[in-house]
Amino acid sequence: MESAKDIWERALGELQIQVSKANYTTWLRDSQGISCQDNLFSVGVPNTFIAEWLSKRFSPLARKTLIEIIGRNVDIQFVVHQGEGVIPSPIASIQNDGGTSTKTRTNTFNPKYTFDNFIVGNCNRLACTAALETVRNPGKDYNPLFIYSDAGQGKTHLLHAIGHEAVHNGLRVAYTSGEQFTSEFVSAVRQKQVEHFRSKFRDIHMFLFDDIQFINDKKQTLQSFLNTFNELHNNSCQIVITAECSPKDMTLLSNRMKSRFEGGLVASLQAPDFETCLLILKAKVGAKMTTELDQALRLIAERIYESVRQVEGTLAYLIAQVKLAGTTLTPQTVHRLLTSPSNKPGKSTLQLVANYFDLSVEDLIGKKRDRTAALARQVAMYLLREHSSYSFVEIGKTLGNRSHATALHGYKKIASELAINPTLCEQVLEIRGKIK
Ligand code: ADP
Ligand code: MG
Repeated sequence: MESAKDIWERALGELQIQVSKANYTTWLRDSQGISCQDNLFSVGVPNTFIAEWLSKRFSPLARKTLIEIIGRNVDIQFVVHQGEGVIPSPIASIQNDGGTSTKTRTNTFNPKYTFDNFIVGNCNRLACTAALETVRNPGKDYNPLFIYSDAGQGKTHLLHAIGHEAVHNGLRVAYTSGEQFTSEFVSAVRQKQVEHFRSKFRDIHMFLFDDIQFINDKKQTLQSFLNTFNELHNNSCQIVITAECSPKDMTLLSNRMKSRFEGGLVASLQAPDFETCLLILKAKVGAKMTTELDQALRLIAERIYESVRQVEGTLAYLIAQVKLAGTTLTPQTVHRLLTSPSNKPGKSTLQLVANYFDLSVEDLIGKKRDRTAALARQVAMYLLREHSSYSFVEIGKTLGNRSHATALHGYKKIASELAINPTLCEQVLEIRGKIK
């Protein structure tokens, strides 16, 4: 009779074809068949984290594959087994210090920001896989891991998810953000306690740094971070950094440091695509799925979103509205709420702006490029953004198929001008009064 080990080897051969390479390498590669007794097939994996993950995500597929190979019904279980071929991470076996010192943290990460709650799709797959790999093999291939995206795309969520798992695996983890690091560094300088401040980041296995762009223009703080970074990196401490820009765009960073940042893996998170959006909505709606609810969520997912936070915001808005009206989420209620005048970048706004600047709507959405037309267009972008929940992509489209970047630029230009240009301020206020 074929041994459990051989049967699982064959199953792995099948599974390798059926799952992505990243998933295979991360979860299945180091597993091995241990036994098959009483119709229960046991698969050994390196640690509890992988065992739990495989049980939750891969059980049905793995079971189906096994049944096909063995030719009879079996159940499957994943157990921790550090046998031949299973190499436990040396760092993961060291226990954390129970949080008695300030330099590491026990599990105080946001309980909602876990890998289980993180929906994986095309827009974030690489970053998520790499994040998991940093937990599984800290300080190895993806060191540092640099994750960047616009705001609201899931960077902090992923960082906390790494933190949860790393602490769970017994690693000593330090977590900070650009803002927190700056404020602690500045006060350490003031109190002549820089050495003490730096010592907080020694003797750790993992350093999670959120929103590094915050220190991009702060020379001294950045230098302090870089010293810590170099020291930790030389000691194979796993470093994960998030930012709203890529390392290339960090202007105060020397080319040498840029290439050190890029030396591990740089992964970006993109705005959610339809499929990911739908999965996120399904996960967040927290209600029993019916055909009607599914259709309603599809309608919501079809819209264009700039960030996951925007998806959440839209869902929260819709739920609040239907609760208020004593109804539920249906394709009809969603359609009505999402196309109500306060949500639609109305033609009326364009008309009002055009009238105010003595232009036609065609001028506004057309190619006219004189100063008045350009200004009016940007004012329209600003007002559409302020008065609708529409994205810059949609605003760009409304204004004659312009790009998301153009709409964003127009909005930002007016928003910053308003603070220093009283005439513009009056103009915008006047048009806004008319919209209302
Ligand atoms: P960032 O740090 O990039 O600004 P956050 O991590 O704060 O973004 O994410 C914003 C919100 O979106 C959070 O509530 C987070 O849980 C949620 N979120 C982001 N990406 C996902 C995802 N892939 N699956 C589920 N929720 C997500
Ligand atoms: Mg964040």
